[in-house]
Amino acid sequence: MVRKLAALAASLTVMASSAAPAAAEPVTFLPGAAGAGDPYYPLQGNGGYDVGHYDLRLRFDPDGHKVDATTTITAIAAQNLSRFNLDFSGPSISDVLVNGARAAYRRDGQELVVTPPNGLRSGSTFTVAVSYAGAPKAVSDATGEQGWIRTKDGAYVASQPDGARSWFPADDSPADKATFSFRVSAPGDLTVLANGERTGTGGADADGYRTTRWEMRQPMAPYLATVAIGRFVVSEGTVDGMPNVTAYDPSLADESKDLHDFTAKAVAWETGLFGPYPFSSTGGIADGDGSVTALETQGRPVYSGGPTDDLEIVHELAHQWFGDSVGVRSWRDIWLNEGFATYAEWLYQEQHGGPTAKKIFDRHYRKTGHFWNLKTGDPGQAHMFDEHAVYLRGAMTVQALRTKIGDKVFFPLLKTWAQGNRHGTATTADFVALAERLSGQNLRPFFDAWLYQAKKPRL
Ligand SMILES: [Zn+2]
Repeated sequence: MVRKLAALAASLTVMASSAAPAAAEPVTFLPGAAGAGDPYYPLQGNGGYDVGHYDLRLRFDPDGHKVDATTTITAIAAQNLSRFNLDFSGPSISDVLVNGARAAYRRDGQELVVTPPNGLRSGSTFTVAVSYAGAPKAVSDATGEQGWIRTKDGAYVASQPDGARSWFPADDSPADKATFSFRVSAPGDLTVLANGERTGTGGADADGYRTTRWEMRQPMAPYLATVAIGRFVVSEGTVDGMPNVTAYDPSLADESKDLHDFTAKAVAWETGLFGPYPFSSTGGIADGDGSVTALETQGRPVYSGGPTDDLEIVHELAHQWFGDSVGVRSWRDIWLNEGFATYAEWLYQEQHGGPTAKKIFDRHYRKTGHFWNLKTGDPGQAHMFDEHAVYLRGAMTVQALRTKIGDKVFFPLLKTWAQGNRHGTATTADFVALAERLSGQNLRPFFDAWLYQAKKPRL
């Protein structure tokens, strides 16, 4: 992503300095692909461009639960584009502008197909602004409800893996990270939270609405974007000098009593284990009724129904390193997120008077039957959040690796992985290669047994 921003600056320079076009040559413009080709979510993401920034402006009207929104995307064409797709299944579109000019568009299932008046040259920076209004609805699939989640006094967003399209048009591939700006207007008695840092709250307008601005300055996959609108008790503090902003719905006061202070404690503990915290703020949001699971929304996880316990906070914050900063390129590798976040819970217990990670491993290793029936490294789309195959066996894979390579290699490996892939994406093969390099061992048979066999590995 650092590279991408450099490319953005470079392309702007080229545009500014090439006022006189070269002699006309025939140029072929072709449509961008409708999906990024993920085996689990083939239509998620799109081909032909790379997003640098999302600017989300949204006005929320609790009466009828409606939004009136404009999302403006700044992107770089990766090919000569005659048209391109966005992922969007949100409310009615009124207008699509490309570089400020009205563009043709049509909706095709979860795809929004945009045809600009002129082709977009490979390497050029362009903007696409989509205006839409209506009542967003969550997306549902075998992994559950996701995206825009209604609450009794507003809404919050938890989009993993495929829900971003419920509330804003996106290149919703986990591999296309971008920075985000949020400007959310809501009636003055409601509070607005989002990812990143709050950069302003305006006064009430003639309708009594206030606009709150938030900025996520580090690259973020669209599924990790969130806003939360409603009545909240907000706490603000710092951890390691950066803002810690937590908020809970007043009805979740009991469940959220540790949220603020324990978030600070967990971030500090995890920074010691995993290396520098990857974002410029932290926090948490407790909202909703617990009908969807917690999610590691970047820099500020959301806890549906409030955190279940401190270990859930440890888990979601561990994802800031494993999942958010170091993202998966393909959903098949989801154990890289869930296995490590679950293992963080085991390490927390080990270092705070609880059972050792090895003891927790042994307890699960005794299990038989369906516990071992899926492949941890390729569980299938419907099972990508399977507690046994992905969370527990993912964490067991990490513990088994620790036993195999020893603590002197294992703990530096965690930091090297987080640092070396910071703000990027990675694959299981990348992890295997790094573990082999740092340990000097051939680990392919080990990882094959733990990740790609649907049976209990031998110790
Ligand atoms: Zn998780």
